[in-house]
Amino acid sequence: MPVDVLAIAAHPDDVELTCAGTLVRLKARGRRFGIVDLTRGELGTRGTDAIRHKEAERAAEILGAEFRETLDFGDGRVSGTRDQELQVIDLIRREKPRLVVTSYPEDRHPDHARAGRLVTDLTFYAGLRKIETGHPAHRPQQTIYFSTGYVHEPDFVVDVTSAMETRRAAILAFSSQFHSESSTEPQTVLSQKFFLDGIEARARHFGFLIGVEFGEGFRSKRPPKLDDVVAAFEGFEPGF
Ligand SMILES: [Zn+2]
Repeated sequence: MPVDVLAIAAHPDDVELTCAGTLVRLKARGRRFGIVDLTRGELGTRGTDAIRHKEAERAAEILGAEFRETLDFGDGRVSGTRDQELQVIDLIRREKPRLVVTSYPEDRHPDHARAGRLVTDLTFYAGLRKIETGHPAHRPQQTIYFSTGYVHEPDFVVDVTSAMETRRAAILAFSSQFHSESSTEPQTVLSQKFFLDGIEARARHFGFLIGVEFGEGFRSKRPPKLDDVVAAFEGFEPGF
């Protein structure tokens, strides 16, 4: 059974920190989604790739993903071989997503930027039938982008207020990476309390833009189609 959405990112936990609330909201509407991590996150200062793998599996379960697949494009270089590129093309064809979500191809972390460019290209190539893999050609309707390190002006924002508890739980499933009073591992930017506070503040900022408590912002090369423009601005302060 095809998924509606495929979220593809460089590192295990990128999806949780950026677009997990949107995935949870889609699930509540009966949409199906899968997660693909292009790397095992083996360069992370804390934890090991085995620990991160377990944490990623748990997070996917919390979010309600149909599956999570981890590829090996190399943490700290994200440059797939042709075989690995074909693996992603085949995965897109196998799962037939209508929408692909990935990181915006302009970011502080080169892995995020490369993942964004690569996924954009491979999503297009998946529709070329003369590139042969195990499954017939399939091209998703659109690729949309979340911000990771740098924050971009969003083209649209999803209200994720009702999904925030689940999103927080999925983020905290990565206990080796993020703030924990009891951890004896070296401190990193990610492991300090202010990091998760900042992630939450970003969701508040995006939410504020559309007049709700929490939101997730996305960029898209084409604007989303709206049926009801009035409803799209419902709850906004007049003139604000
Ligand atoms: Zn990352």
